[in-house]
Amino acid sequence: MDKYNAIVTQCDIKDETKKGSLSHLKIALKDNISTKGVKTTASSKILENYTPVFNATVVERIINAGGHIVAKTTMDELGMGGYGKNPATGPTLNAIDQNRMAGGSSAGSAVLVASGVVDVALGTDTGDSMRIPASYNGIVGLKPTYGRVSRYGVVPYPASLDHDGIFAKDIKTVATMLEVIAGYDRLDQVTSHKEVERYSDLDSDVNDVKIAILDNVLNEIDNEEIIGAFYRLVNALDLRYSEVKTVSMDEDLFKALPIVYKIIANAEAFSNHSNLSGVPFGNRIAGDTFSETILKTRSNGFSFQVAQRMFIGATTLMSENYTDVYVKAQKVRRKIVDNLNEMKEDYDFIIAPAASRIAPLLSEDEDEHATLADSYMVMDNFSGHPGIVIPLGTSESMPFGLYISTRAFNEKQLLSFAAIIEEMVGEL
Ligand code: GLN
Repeated sequence: MDKYNAIVTQCDIKDETKKGSLSHLKIALKDNISTKGVKTTASSKILENYTPVFNATVVERIINAGGHIVAKTTMDELGMGGYGKNPATGPTLNAIDQNRMAGGSSAGSAVLVASGVVDVALGTDTGDSMRIPASYNGIVGLKPTYGRVSRYGVVPYPASLDHDGIFAKDIKTVATMLEVIAGYDRLDQVTSHKEVERYSDLDSDVNDVKIAILDNVLNEIDNEEIIGAFYRLVNALDLRYSEVKTVSMDEDLFKALPIVYKIIANAEAFSNHSNLSGVPFGNRIAGDTFSETILKTRSNGFSFQVAQRMFIGATTLMSENYTDVYVKAQKVRRKIVDNLNEMKEDYDFIIAPAASRIAPLLSEDEDEHATLADSYMVMDNFSGHPGIVIPLGTSESMPFGLYISTRAFNEKQLLSFAAIIEEMVGEL
């Protein structure tokens, strides 16, 4: 059944007595979202036997809205990866072409939605882990505002960048799910008290909005079909909206995006995962001393990819490096966010292709042709602003997506605008 290698555990989580807006929907969850009594491995060997005794807040909310959770899905181990190649259970295959990568880290969730196995799925997004797989599999992927959706019960990666997100084939379903899972949660102290709007009541008249094209991204792309589809859409937008202009992020800041991400993400991850020691959490491999137990547990439980990131994180946080590396990265993050805020003061939406390419072949070296256009969406993890990827076109019969980003807590307008573009793309 699982020809995409997208499922870690099949499950049957629901409460027959609850009816609500999710009653008719089959749902999958990325395997870093805690489910009571159902294994939650984060696709890591170190957590392969971990069965939570509680539900993540989003799970409680889904159950209360009548949802039926049928699968826990594969991911790059602990969220660390961008291609879905690195779950403990082996690579996840793209829904459209099984010789290609699924994109990650929320690989299995994207693939189950794209292949029609489920109607809607949750993933998480730290750098772009919802938005890249959405583009590679031709579906909608939303990363809401930081603090809009509770992360209580979600295995962290770097907490200052982690967001829960939603995949579906259409925007209406994404909006319906957001309405259920959004809102204040006393168990996640960064969640906002802001009112949860009726997101699924999409406004059909999003007028007078100002749209900016993020130039830095376009400069990095040489796939003509991606560029062609993007500018066909821009022309259509131009006819409908009075202000569609090109903007640029400061080029030095744009170039700094991946390295600042790497420093902050790995430093926080190293700290967050100090509990995977075989004592509070993690498959214990006993040694003669406490340190030896930790060493054996972590050496056995983490793949090389994760160990490497832990090493980078640990090195970054060493006292001799902290000021020069970690603190500097935080300062650059601030500058990136200031730059982004300036653009978003003048424009309601920033748009660009979601990536420079279609999903790479599994036989390819994924890093070889990656450009800055394949990692820029992390800008909105730094800022916490919401962003959505929707299908834009195809190249070699493979999908690619459009990225739309906006100001914090502007999800209602973002989803409404995305639904208008969804329709426009269909008519291009
Ligand atoms: N690709 C990025 C990474 O490998 C983002 C991952 C994510 O968003 N979880 O860290």
